[in-house]
Amino acid sequence: MVEGFDDKNPDGQNPQNGNARFASACPMCGTEYAPEEARVVSEKEGAFLIHTNCKKCRCSVVATLVANQMGVSSVGLITDLTYEDVIKFKDGSDITADDILRVYTVLSEDNRIEKALKV
Ligand SMILES: [Zn+2]
Repeated sequence: MVEGFDDKNPDGQNPQNGNARFASACPMCGTEYAPEEARVVSEKEGAFLIHTNCKKCRCSVVATLVANQMGVSSVGLITDLTYEDVIKFKDGSDITADDILRVYTVLSEDNRIEKALKV
């Protein structure tokens, strides 16, 4: 996943530039999503985890949509995860700093990182 973005529209003054737009169009190329391109991964207490895949640029977004008395808000991440990947990883454990250090340590043995970068 890459940098997350928050598309909340707290003032609610311009729905065309707020949540509705995020939920209905690709954030990378602006192509409108067809309804069948948004798939609900899970739902819990009125909050939906949704995966979309843009048919034009193939960019995927995983987003949470929450509807309450204040309106609808969404927070999304541009990702390379497929719908099946999201199903697989959504309940997985978090990656810790120790996990990263362990991978770094393993890759550093015998200068594997340097060798990999000298392709
Ligand atoms: Zn797109």
